Amino acid sequence: MRQLVLIIEDEPDILELLEYNLSREGLRVITAASGESGLRQAASEQPALVLLDLMLPGISGFEVYRRLKQRHGGAEIPVIMLTAKGEETDIVAGLGIGADDYITKPFSIRELVARVHAVLRRARDDDATDRLEQIARGPLTIDPGRHEVCVAGERVDLTLAEYRLLLALASNPGRVYSRSRLVARITTGDHHISERNVDVHIAALRRKLGDEETLIATVRGVGYKFQD
Ligand code: CA
Repeated sequence: MRQLVLIIEDEPDILELLEYNLSREGLRVITAASGESGLRQAASEQPALVLLDLMLPGISGFEVYRRLKQRHGGAEIPVIMLTAKGEETDIVAGLGIGADDYITKPFSIRELVARVHAVLRRARDDDATDRLEQIARGPLTIDPGRHEVCVAGERVDLTLAEYRLLLALASNPGRVYSRSRLVARITTGDHHISERNVDVHIAALRRKLGDEETLIATVRGVGYKFQD
């Protein structure tokens, strides 16, 4: 599955340069020329990464950054901030973001592409929580080595999709997963799963968890999380 990158940038030349080069890297790219439209697209398309210009007309990149992080509980969407040299470093410092998360204009396109790949790789590793140690959450245990799930010592039979959903959620209690992110977790090869299917699998999973169904919480308008 090609990863989706959203670029929010009001300067057409820079936007075009970024779009061209990132598409050439095999990424899917969508663009927005204002913060408002960028936030709308981030909510509807759930990109794997946002490239965000700091100085935008209307709501500023600073505010867009704040809302992106707020909406997704902080960590879900990585952002690389594009800042102009000098004048904006104070603002960036004010955001408390790490050096990996912003790049100063004028930037070398090679450096930017490398940075984009590094952030996407980090996000994927983060997702690859298919650890091999046993996971224990209250009465629930998951043994990834054996693909075995037990509730209060009783073995629960899950389909592969249900198992993968549970493993993803239980590996990161409290973290909110969007439906599209969960689709990515249960998709194998070319077998396509719709976001609607996620709800169906979750419903089945909850039934199988019986009394412990409340371990999986619905986060309205976003997706699901494992209770922490
Ligand atoms: Ca700008």
